Amino acid sequence: MRALVTPSSQAGRVSPRIVSEFRERLRGARTQLLRTAAVTDEELTTVDIKDAREDGAALTMTSATLLRLKDHERRELTEIEQAEARLARGDFGMCAECGTAIALTRLRALPTARLCLRCQARVKEG
Ligand SMILES: [Zn+2]
Repeated sequence: MRALVTPSSQAGRVSPRIVSEFRERLRGARTQLLRTAAVTDEELTTVDIKDAREDGAALTMTSATLLRLKDHERRELTEIEQAEARLARGDFGMCAECGTAIALTRLRALPTARLCLRCQARVKEG
């Protein structure tokens, strides 16, 4: 079976400029979300440290923080982190269903969008 996403020459791949734009947007969205969830500045610092550390120490503290988040806030945070992972992988902005590029206007309105409008509509219809 042919891979859906081929490297480098893939049409619709977002440019480095867009990648950095959305990295900033997602960072901002995450900070705002955590502030809304009444997380203290000290805990926010811990969450930021998580990006740079993989040894798990900061992750444990983050989990304690996450326990205080409401379900929908935690889900939103997961979506933000998944979008950041897609940015890092290079498949950000590609529809997870059909593989076409998601419209930039849609991404700007909803940076965590995984589906193009057409696929999203189909999911909603069930
Ligand atoms: Zn699609």
